[in-house]
Amino acid sequence: MKQIIVGNWKMNGLTADAAKAADDIGAAMGQDVSGAQVVICPPFTQLALVGPKLREHGIALGAQDCHQDPCGAHTGDIAASMLRDLGVEYVILGHSERRRDHNELDETVREKAVAAAAAGLTPIVCVGESEDQRSAGDSQEAVGWQIQGSLPQGFTGIVAYEPVWAIGSGTAASQQDIADMTQFIREELVRQFGDAGKTIKILYGGSVNGRNAADILPLANVGGALVGNASLAAETFMPIVRAAV
Ligand code: PEP
Repeated sequence: MKQIIVGNWKMNGLTADAAKAADDIGAAMGQDVSGAQVVICPPFTQLALVGPKLREHGIALGAQDCHQDPCGAHTGDIAASMLRDLGVEYVILGHSERRRDHNELDETVREKAVAAAAAGLTPIVCVGESEDQRSAGDSQEAVGWQIQGSLPQGFTGIVAYEPVWAIGSGTAASQQDIADMTQFIREELVRQFGDAGKTIKILYGGSVNGRNAADILPLANVGGALVGNASLAAETFMPIVRAAV
């Protein structure tokens, strides 16, 4: 099955920047031979602009969050059906920056995953230990609890393992740490979902770049990457797409 390379633009990109990045990445896709499924998640404000530009080159559109309710009195929030209406296919949920900035709990992430799937979106649910949990030797325990709490019954989306300490730090987790944690996540998924857990894709995210992608992407339980900073420009993003297996 094709790997998935997801670009998370976070809160970056005025109209001119977003249009340029989408055009450049789209043009470079013509020369890509990896066969990876590429997904770009711009800020909400750029979804309508970049969606058609990306689709033209076989790139799917993703969003960075959605609300758990289908509609109603939630000022400033966006429902999953509104995203689907714009042609969005994937949505990142429970990113550590949302857990940190908006106090999102596992339970909320789980409700959002249900809402996303009901609207026809593929949820990409993020889990990962903090620096404190890592230094206390509690990484697997922390990630295990997040998986149990954040994934709803019958989950058929994607899980992104993103160690919080690696995000935006310039230093990715080691190959061994990624191999060990993705193996642990696979076992948890099988424990929770039976055979269906064997096919849930697990992405790695946290300072993936064109230099380390070729070490990370071939690991046994890694089904792709979630990429922040390096996804903002074609020059830094495409080497990762080309390293997909
Ligand atoms: C992310 O925000 O999901 C991420 C992985 O960021 P970066 O690649 O910049 O570490």
